[in-house]
Amino acid sequence: MRIDIITLFPEMCSAVLNESIIGRAQKSGAIEINCHQLRDFAFDKHRRVDDAPYGGGMGMLMMAEPIALCFDDICKQTGERPHFIYMSPQGKTLTQDKIKELSEYDNICLLCGHYEGVDERLLEEYIDEEISIGDYVLTGGELPALVLADALARMAPGVLSDDECFEQESHFNGLLEYPQYTRPNVWRGKEVPEVLLSGHHKNIEEFRRRQSVIRTAEKRPDMIKNAPLNSEERIMAEKIISEKNP
Ligand code: SAM
Repeated sequence: MRIDIITLFPEMCSAVLNESIIGRAQKSGAIEINCHQLRDFAFDKHRRVDDAPYGGGMGMLMMAEPIALCFDDICKQTGERPHFIYMSPQGKTLTQDKIKELSEYDNICLLCGHYEGVDERLLEEYIDEEISIGDYVLTGGELPALVLADALARMAPGVLSDDECFEQESHFNGLLEYPQYTRPNVWRGKEVPEVLLSGHHKNIEEFRRRQSVIRTAEKRPDMIKNAPLNSEERIMAEKIISEKNP
């Protein structure tokens, strides 16, 4: 997978994405991430990419043309048109299902807005979808783009080892992940559940599944309705929810 990020702060993005698991994945070639300085596509000597909004109002808007030129240049580099996403508080809220869907693309380009946002005509002509990371407003699209790039990159083949595999994780299968423990087996008097020390794989699997259902019912009752549960699990989850909200 290749991810291109169009931003006024490429160093901010690469500083984060060059670290840890995603950094290693880039070095190994499992993913490619390129951060593009939008000002390189400005056409005046001051490298301006923003201007005042027509009709007045607060703040500045990012102009359409530098973004269009930058994206066209990325298309030339990739040899195909990437799926183009504008990080925006007006977009659909990001979920793990959305990440799964987007991970099918070979090329994705993320546009980070700044100031008051982006000229609407660019959004109409170029953008395939808008994605938000939550119902609040940040100063720029860099943090949202980093969130999306990280979540996408870790799903690319070869990025996570088997140990770090995402399939058991929260949200992947509609449930939260079970609780986990590491050494020592007694910490400040608190013991690790005995079954996890037993080496009995089937019992461990059953324990984890049950904990996953209990935890989801307790922490995120809103997820239970659509969770993939058998009838016994559903009765248990609904009992937990009704006990918490009598
Ligand atoms: N005036 C815009 C509005 O009310 O919809 C908000 C602009 S915001 C101050 C500047 C930029 O930050 C946006 O263009 C967008 O790229 C990014 N941004 C802010 N909050 C975001 C969020 N919750 N999710 C994704 N991007 C966000």
